[in-house]
Amino acid sequence: MAQREGQAAPAGTLNAAQPYFDRVARHILTAQAAALPDLRGIVILLPGFHTAQPLAQALMREAQVPALLLPQMVTLNNWASSLTADFVPESRRLALLYQALQSRRWFGQADLWSLAQELLVLFDELTHSLSTLPSDADAFAAAVQQAYNARQNSTLQFEARLVFELWYAMQAGGEADAARAYQQRLAKLAQQADKPLYVLRTSDWTALEQRFLDQYAERAEVTVFDLREMETRWSGLLRDQTIPLNTLSTPPFGDRLRFFAATSLEQEARAATMQVRRWLQEGKRDIAIVAQDRVVARRMRALLERAEVLVADETGWTFATLSVSAVLDRWFTALQSDFYHHDLLDLLKSPYIFADMAAGERKSAVYQLEQLLRKHGIVSGLEKFIALAEHETDLHRPLARLRQAAILLEQGKKQGLGEWLAALIESLRVLGIDTGLQQDDAGQQLLRALEGWQQELEGDEGRYRFSEWRRWLAQQLDTQTYRDSSIDSTVRFTHLAATRWRAFDAVVLLGCDADHLPSVADGGRWFNDSVRSSLNLPTRGMHAARQCDDLLALLALNDCVLVTWQKDKNGEEGLLSPYLEMLRDLHTLTYGDDLSESELHAYLAAEDARKVELPQAVQPAPSVASEAVPQGVSISGYNSMVACPYQFYARHILHLNELDEVQEGIEKRDYGERVHDVLQRFHERYPQVCGHNVEEMEVALRRISEEVFADLLRQDFAARAWLARWFQSLPAYLEWQTENEAEGWRYAEAESKFDWQLEGVRLRGRIDRLDVRAEEKLVLDYKTQSEQALRNKLREPGEDVQLACYAYAHEAADAAFVSIENGKVKLVEPKQDVPLLAQLNAERLEQVMGRIRGGAGLPANGIDAVCTHCEMRGVCRKGEWQ
Ligand code: SF4
Repeated sequence: MAQREGQAAPAGTLNAAQPYFDRVARHILTAQAAALPDLRGIVILLPGFHTAQPLAQALMREAQVPALLLPQMVTLNNWASSLTADFVPESRRLALLYQALQSRRWFGQADLWSLAQELLVLFDELTHSLSTLPSDADAFAAAVQQAYNARQNSTLQFEARLVFELWYAMQAGGEADAARAYQQRLAKLAQQADKPLYVLRTSDWTALEQRFLDQYAERAEVTVFDLREMETRWSGLLRDQTIPLNTLSTPPFGDRLRFFAATSLEQEARAATMQVRRWLQEGKRDIAIVAQDRVVARRMRALLERAEVLVADETGWTFATLSVSAVLDRWFTALQSDFYHHDLLDLLKSPYIFADMAAGERKSAVYQLEQLLRKHGIVSGLEKFIALAEHETDLHRPLARLRQAAILLEQGKKQGLGEWLAALIESLRVLGIDTGLQQDDAGQQLLRALEGWQQELEGDEGRYRFSEWRRWLAQQLDTQTYRDSSIDSTVRFTHLAATRWRAFDAVVLLGCDADHLPSVADGGRWFNDSVRSSLNLPTRGMHAARQCDDLLALLALNDCVLVTWQKDKNGEEGLLSPYLEMLRDLHTLTYGDDLSESELHAYLAAEDARKVELPQAVQPAPSVASEAVPQGVSISGYNSMVACPYQFYARHILHLNELDEVQEGIEKRDYGERVHDVLQRFHERYPQVCGHNVEEMEVALRRISEEVFADLLRQDFAARAWLARWFQSLPAYLEWQTENEAEGWRYAEAESKFDWQLEGVRLRGRIDRLDVRAEEKLVLDYKTQSEQALRNKLREPGEDVQLACYAYAHEAADAAFVSIENGKVKLVEPKQDVPLLAQLNAERLEQVMGRIRGGAGLPANGIDAVCTHCEMRGVCRKGEWQ
């Protein structure tokens, strides 16, 4: 069933379109009987090149001659392109219009790029709506002047007048634009008309095309095969909604048309995919997916690829939706955020950057950098990262390349679009992104587009800020289409206009809700239908009518069609396309069948039932190899082991907490660390406060505090609030210190490390402060928590290992927390005998580590209070097994 590259649609399949092609062929052959078998003296104008093959086959079938010299078969665009013409590239035109709009300052803060883009579309339509078909610059100028004179005195609303005057001003230049060049080419073709012209169509021409045909018909014969006239049973279907289908001689179409109403985007994509797979199994080979809704199409494409059905794409995707453009976006974002760490890591994790380095080398550099900046908590700034990586030689080159590329795109200046593009292309080279893009077809097309725009815009004299240029580029990427020509499959995505005069083995009309059929792609953001209508330009209604005709033509030529749409959209009722709704109602009225598809739901349910049920997650309790068990444990590690063995496993054996988040704001933890630092510095200078003036002590403590908080104050203004909170506690702290000294305790040392060898394990730690009184020792641990919270901590003997272990390590008989919170300072001591607690804690640690080395599991059994603050919750998946 899998469709692989290289498989082509079988030619000459008998399908519903064949009778129509045969009729066209018979008509042409009869008219050209005298010239047979040589039909090179005529031209056939096709709606698309896909029609050439079935028409050629019909001509050969009907001619019944051994050899037939086929006529010229072209599309109008292609025919016109056969004549050369110079014109200003669209990118230059857009830039010129942008500058004109900017200098006039009419539109305030509006997005001038999108405004200019929309105006260009209107200008082209105005050019195409000229009442003549001028073949050279003089004739064009005269036609423009004539149009201007005719409109000059008419009443136009402000927007319409503005569009018209701007268009008129833009036409004054001698250089032709693409619209004008196309018009002149058509005029030349019409002037040279010397062959009978046969035209195939399903819907109305544009005014320009009609004018061309009229002028051509003045010199040579023109015959139009309009499917609407050839097949009135279908084309007349929606003209009168009250006439039952059978009075139009339309048979029931239950065998050829079905509707699937989905309850979600996912269900719609799955149903359409399932139908395509069923058709392939039935042997259908030429399958079209007419994608009205590109979002559903994207999902369907993924589902088809998962089912190993490759899909060709006649429509393409805009570059803005492709991953190759995402790397440009990441690059600009990193640049504009001064290399904010998240943006920088995002950029470095793109598969396109540094593609000229070995993959392993690149990944290791990115990993090293990520470790470094997370460890040191640097939030942004390329120069800071470079300084940080001074001793990491692997990072020197990548960071230097980033710096060099950033200099190329220096944001403070204004320069031309072409110069910005040249700088971008050079920066991509410096970063090795161009090498990455070269390895991908879409990437190559993107590079070609960038280079093409750069050349086109070389002569542009405008000067743009970086942000303006970035908006311009985003718009370009949003309008430029990438088509993947590497996939040749018989299953293809296409669009409604591309189905004119085409027949397939089967068709999915995807995303046919009222929002997508008729499509609103032609609706303007800045200039509405009333502006268009007052300028005599095609309105949304005219585009919709063309889509309706194309839809009916598709239904006439294809006898196996599935329409899908979403009847529920994000909880709201979705409506079917009005054309299809009418059709379905007429069918229900006439034949009592609403054409609902009835089998796909069962197939989808069967597919769901086959899905492998994943086993329910269970409470984890992993064991580890004895050599992986750490030789040493910190006090915080021991605390973690007591709180939840799995947490200890994740943090201290798997080391999953090593890549800490870079902290962007001040947290309570920083506050606590600064308070420790302040007190250490203070007591190094003043081991005793007794004998000093209290005010003097407070001033000294404040001064030290300001020094210690200085870097935080520079980094984040919220640090002031934390400093103020600490200042609130200063009097209470000095009071407590005075009382402590009155009891005979003297400050001895602070922040002293210990490393205590137990049996089979070492316990490491650092105490905040040690006080002495003659032979007695008191270990103190500062905590910026309330007295009550600390009492709770000590309630269960053995729950908190910190104080007891600190005391044991320093051979102290006593240990206590110093609670510093809300302007109060209190001593919180354990009720139990501290040396005994310490001894028990040491023994427990030896036993537990021995059991872990022996293969005992480390269960995830934290209590809710611990789990609430545990960063390993996503790893132990407590939510699933609890
Ligand atoms: S969330 Fe709870 S059970 Fe899971 S690892 Fe953390 S503390 Fe243990």
